[in-house]
Amino acid sequence: MSLIVQKYGGSSVADAESIKRVAKRIVETRKAGNEVVVVVSAMGDTTDELMDLANEVVPQPDGRELDMLLTAGERIAMALLAMAIKSLGLDARSYTGSQAGMITDARHGSARIVDVTPDRVRAALDDGAVAIVAGFQGFNRGTGDITTLGRGGSDTTAVALAAALGADVCEIYTDVDGIFTADPRVVPAARKIDRISSEEMLELAAAGAKVLYIRAVEYARRHGVTLHVRSSFNNHEGTLVLNSLDGENTVEEPLIAGIAADLSEAKITVVGVPDIPGKAAQIFTIVAGANANIDMIVQNVSAASTGRTDISFTLPKADGAAVLAILEAEKANVGFDALEYDDQIGKLALVGAGMRTNAGVSAKLFTALFEAGINIEMISTSEIRISVVTRADTINEAVRVVHHAFGLDAETEAVVHGGTGR
Ligand code: ASP
Ligand code: MG
Repeated sequence: MSLIVQKYGGSSVADAESIKRVAKRIVETRKAGNEVVVVVSAMGDTTDELMDLANEVVPQPDGRELDMLLTAGERIAMALLAMAIKSLGLDARSYTGSQAGMITDARHGSARIVDVTPDRVRAALDDGAVAIVAGFQGFNRGTGDITTLGRGGSDTTAVALAAALGADVCEIYTDVDGIFTADPRVVPAARKIDRISSEEMLELAAAGAKVLYIRAVEYARRHGVTLHVRSSFNNHEGTLVLNSLDGENTVEEPLIAGIAADLSEAKITVVGVPDIPGKAAQIFTIVAGANANIDMIVQNVSAASTGRTDISFTLPKADGAAVLAILEAEKANVGFDALEYDDQIGKLALVGAGMRTNAGVSAKLFTALFEAGINIEMISTSEIRISVVTRADTINEAVRVVHHAFGLDAETEAVVHGGTGR
């Protein structure tokens, strides 16, 4: 008997019909002789709607109360799903995050899992029932309060439960057939990937691929959980995210796993920084004070005549204002001339483990962009990734031409069943 954790995203349980469809699928899995734990997200756009509602009441909702509000979304979905399964003749029990033993730290809105004690879930399985767990939420022992794990946190709930229960696989159900070589909403010729290494998936998630959340991929990698991303709208095979592709035919390993794009970042340039030791340290210590996640950093060679240089970096747009303010306040102290802010950038990342052993990947990428008349503003690389920044309005075209240049285009169009990529 296998233990399977299945996570259904919001678009898979968007309305009553969808909930019944998902319930049928769960019943089939149980009847095939598996133990089944289901993690469910809030229906459709419920979380966004609750967030909007809170913002209508107050501009800056209290963290504790916002978590109370948002966790209601998953609670609705889990109860409806349990009812639907019961009506099909199987026993099902729904549990909130706290009932399921998702113990977190106390950070409202972005809590981290510190312990998982799924005793009640285990007991439900032992009784032959299907356990349904509300995703995205937890409980802090110190404060006794309900927390949330951050947007998209249900993936993490599913992986954490799979690890704690020793599940054979954690299936992530979504509205596309698996992980694609690029977002099929942008590149209709994107190809479904059958198997991908967790290392490559981490890079893609970090670079903006929305199909899986980075924290869930990290957790799965650390705890050796196998992820299986599939569509809840059909029975196609989906994509396996494996911690190692050892044993696979490495001769067949593709050079490039996929391409991700990100429009959520902005670029700050610190102009005229004195080119002396300690200035980068000073600037990024100040930036770290705003708790912003800095990504690409580029420092130019200083002009000999001035002894000054420019330093540019990218960061989430959401952190832009705070970082600008905190840097501006230290302008005289650091001794730079000015700050520039640009929130019309797009970032493209090309990811593939095969890059380690293949020359000419950057040349091919840059040539493809040049031939499409797309200007590159920043470049950064890691062992298995090359990222470039372009204008925001050219990013989709950039992804398409690079996808084509690396021979990733499929013959048939990818099917998108609905939703927004989550
Ligand atoms: N409902 C939450 C969100 O929309 C959690 C999730 O979907 O994973 O962010
Ligand atoms: Mg959601």
